[in-house]
Amino acid sequence: MTKTRIWLSSPHMGGTEQLYVKEAFDSNWVAPLGPNVNFFENSLESYLNNNVHAAALSSGTGAIHLGLQLLGVGKGDEVLCQSFTFSASANPINYLGATPVFIDSESKTWNISPELLEKAILDRISNGKKPKAIVAVHLYGMPYQIEEIQEISKKYGIPVIEDSAEALGSEYKEMKCGQFGEIGIFSFNGNKIITTSGGGALLTKNESIKQKAVHLATQARDKAPHYQHSKIGYNYRMSNVLAGIGRGQMEVIDDRVAARRFNFDYYLKNLSGIAGIEFLEEPEGFYSNRWLTCILTDSFDKRESIRLALDQEDIESRPLWKPMHLQPVFASCLHFSDGTSEDLFNRGLCLPSGSNMEQEDLERVVSIIKKVALA
Ligand SMILES: *Cc1c(COP(=O)(O)O)cnc(C)c1O
Repeated sequence: MTKTRIWLSSPHMGGTEQLYVKEAFDSNWVAPLGPNVNFFENSLESYLNNNVHAAALSSGTGAIHLGLQLLGVGKGDEVLCQSFTFSASANPINYLGATPVFIDSESKTWNISPELLEKAILDRISNGKKPKAIVAVHLYGMPYQIEEIQEISKKYGIPVIEDSAEALGSEYKEMKCGQFGEIGIFSFNGNKIITTSGGGALLTKNESIKQKAVHLATQARDKAPHYQHSKIGYNYRMSNVLAGIGRGQMEVIDDRVAARRFNFDYYLKNLSGIAGIEFLEEPEGFYSNRWLTCILTDSFDKRESIRLALDQEDIESRPLWKPMHLQPVFASCLHFSDGTSEDLFNRGLCLPSGSNMEQEDLERVVSIIKKVALA
């Protein structure tokens, strides 16, 4: 019997997506605007209790790029950025001619450390380089320490970009992620908790910021019968066809979060007794969508032997994100680190976590991990 490959996180359609895509075709709204874009934005807004305005964009990366620009980041500026993340959190800082300063994680949520963040701010201020913004990330769906980061942001007057690319459906004190920063962002890339095949959104409490984001995302065209531009714009708006997929996906978001959390609970229940395997628990008040279930092993070698054993059985797993301050491309950037994220990178592994996994898939993964870990 041949077994099918188990993916880390693959797209999972709900059923109505094709209907909305067909609507776009039938009405010939095969364009970067149209009714699906409005419906999709409205569904995101109501999911966040209408606490924010959403602008649907072509990617999460583009949303961060626009967000930084709207916060005034420009050439020669410094931006504080969580080091333990995907490169897309940091790349847009460079697009704007600014430089990232990387901040290590704490071990409670694996996200940006409030202590190191404040240390970095004081250091940069004393060097006459007050940072322009903070990019904080809810990695793997676990919210960062919202209150501590907000407090530092307020104390020094430095706004936060809340990178919620992996955290649609996560909550802090029963408030959904995406509404805690000056500007929040989501990603709907193919491997995220819901997908539009590729896409993103910018979130803001301030309606005029949304309007500015949409303006920049549509080539910054001025109001005039001809094409007139007073600013450099981008082509970052989400297409009406893809927004149709998003519209359908938002109808099943609660199921998707429940399924990801079910996977986590299954792994926890079946692996937590084993020496040398740990999980990141939710601190009080934190609710993770458990986008990816991660385990922390007791050594690099153990992590690698589990990863390779899974790979042999055609099961995809992946080391945790390699911190940005260890990336060749960012080698020259300043960083404030204490080894936390480097250690997580060395010992951690993301397990298959798709919302479309079957019970037997979970059993296959667990049995292989057990075999290696107990050997
Ligand atoms: C996926 C991701 C992004 C980028 O989103 P795209 O839609 O792929 O551009 C940004 N930050 C984090 C943490 C991500 O995981």
